[in-house]
Amino acid sequence: METRELGNTGIKVSAISLGGVAFTWLDRESSEKLIDFSVEYGINYIDIYAGTQEKIKGALKRNRDKIIISTRGNSKTIDQYLEFFNLDYFDIFLLSMIDSNDQLEKAIEDAEILERSKRSKFRFLGIATHNPSLYEKIIKIKKFQVLMFPLNCIDEIDSKIFSLTKENHSGIIAMKPMAGGNIRKYDSAIKYVLNKPVSTALIGMASINEVEQNISVLKDIKIRENDILFYNEIKRKLGKVFCRYCGHCIFPEPCPEGIPVRTIMMLETLAYQANLRRTVSESVLKSVEKCKKCGRCEQRCPYNLPIRKLLPEKVKYYLDITK
Ligand code: SF4
Ligand code: SF4
Repeated sequence: METRELGNTGIKVSAISLGGVAFTWLDRESSEKLIDFSVEYGINYIDIYAGTQEKIKGALKRNRDKIIISTRGNSKTIDQYLEFFNLDYFDIFLLSMIDSNDQLEKAIEDAEILERSKRSKFRFLGIATHNPSLYEKIIKIKKFQVLMFPLNCIDEIDSKIFSLTKENHSGIIAMKPMAGGNIRKYDSAIKYVLNKPVSTALIGMASINEVEQNISVLKDIKIRENDILFYNEIKRKLGKVFCRYCGHCIFPEPCPEGIPVRTIMMLETLAYQANLRRTVSESVLKSVEKCKKCGRCEQRCPYNLPIRKLLPEKVKYYLDITK
């Protein structure tokens, strides 16, 4: 497996790495098998989420000396997360949900708290953001050695950002290379990301078959004419309506009418994850009828998605494609 430098951390990460999202819906046995198989096939970096610990902590423990582990949180959650996963330290601890200037100011304060009081709990500090207008500022602050942001063939990133990360020796973890499951042409999607100067493509993979498929792309990542045609087509189709699943529409304040906005926005992905079986309850689907169009969710969406218009459309499409 190809490995790449993670900025100036001295760590080399596998070009393809394992995102933790799949562990939220896999059972313990499948999660453990997935980690063991991925490690055996050369994946050496895993990003994990609190809430999945009971399914994966056994596999993390037995593979600990072969894997780089990151998670996302803040100075108040780091101790709890270490306890959840039964780990002594995280290799990379990423301050997360940093998508506004105010959140960035707080993250800088939090980074100082972490540096002062919890240095032994992590090796490198990073930041995870979904807001492209903050990338330059974050890099120039020089507080974070690792930057995690979404990168895929739908969202172009200004090449200046890559030059700046290179100058500052920051490592880039590219999350959502498949646009949260919206891009199913995995080979073109992975090639797009790995032809950028990133350290790794962090991919949520739910089966051994997916791990094998994605790793096989590394044999030849040259972008060809058919890939470019695909990039243009998918940008046209999804560019202005695709949800990046960042969660800002429901966090820190949920919808006042109790609509699980992010879940509704990701219905298509949920449908394909369940092989087009209808797994989302009728009450969740019907909840969109309670929308009062107050617009609070849209104000917090970093991608300016027309959520109020999209919610009923997402439900209709989900009902059409699932049984
Ligand atoms: S616009 Fe609708 S979905 Fe969004 S916060 Fe208001 S009521 Fe909830
Ligand atoms: S609708 Fe916007 S804020 Fe909500 S999860 Fe999607 S991209 Fe994020």
